[in-house]
Amino acid sequence: MPMHEFELIRRFFQRPEAPEGPGVVLGIGDDCALLQPAQGQQLALSVDTLVADVHFPADADPAEIAQRALRVNLSDLAAMGASPRWFTLALTLPEADEHWLRAFGAGLFVAADAYGCTLVGGDTTAGPLSITVQVMGEVAPARALRRDGAGIGDYVLVTHCLGDGAGGLAAVRGELDLPEAELAYLRARYYRPEPRLAEAQRLLGLASAALDISDGLVADLGHICAASDVAAQIDVETLPLSPALLALDDRARVRDWALTGGDDYELCFTVPEARMPEVGLMIARGELNATVVGQLVTGTGVHCLLDGEPYTLEDTGYKHF
Ligand code: ADP
Ligand code: MG
Repeated sequence: MPMHEFELIRRFFQRPEAPEGPGVVLGIGDDCALLQPAQGQQLALSVDTLVADVHFPADADPAEIAQRALRVNLSDLAAMGASPRWFTLALTLPEADEHWLRAFGAGLFVAADAYGCTLVGGDTTAGPLSITVQVMGEVAPARALRRDGAGIGDYVLVTHCLGDGAGGLAAVRGELDLPEAELAYLRARYYRPEPRLAEAQRLLGLASAALDISDGLVADLGHICAASDVAAQIDVETLPLSPALLALDDRARVRDWALTGGDDYELCFTVPEARMPEVGLMIARGELNATVVGQLVTGTGVHCLLDGEPYTLEDTGYKHF
């Protein structure tokens, strides 16, 4: 039975029972949402589109797709040092499939509630499956973690481990020969990347630059280098890898995933030498899961070294076109 657009929005995306989030003056249902950022805070805003069969398999579990769509956007807020507040959802659907929509909505609100982000509006259209999420957050003026603040001599660090995004995609595609526990870990890393919001909060005032790794460490660190007018040296030996990837027994392939695979949504950030003791202490105390993987030098570009020798990459990162 065809479902009217408003019926669809009411049934799957409006939640009269849920408490209005902070700053929501008017949510779903009018021409615009009305939002009130906290006094003196700047608005941090980002949008990302996920297209079926480009960014996720079209037949993937809708709850997983929804989680991923919101989480990758929240990762952008984390990369800026912003705190999530609100989001909008533009959905293009081939058909109003109730089962799909119910699962999608459920997954979406699990992630929204976990990170304290309120759905305040959107758009619903018919066409090839595509999901656009726009997130809005708040950050104190002059505190945001930008790409252009890094300097020569700064250390380069990454949160948690790298390569799981590419490994996760291979796991989702059924390409890996691993025990089920490792496959499940990797699939979860692909569909439910953790926006590193808590880590970013610890880095405010300490990191000189930061971003989230969506296209691979080499490509994304390259953006910090270009914006800050520096070069980077990466020590390939130090790249943090998960036990699941280490179980693969193909170190060269795993290293390339960590360097160029993309979809990791870990933070890459730089810390001036003078601030390293504070960051090192947080790491030692287990308050921050991060690893030093290199340092910034004069020049341009990102250079990888293995045992002191230049390490040649197959490919430098995800190409959008
Ligand atoms: P308009 O025609 O004025 O743009 P719409 O008919 O597109 O309004 O949407 C009606 C209301 O429902 C708006 O408040 C809009 O933000 C909201 N909305 C539409 N689609 C979605 C969606 N997928 N998720 C959340 N809110 C939605
Ligand atoms: Mg509209």
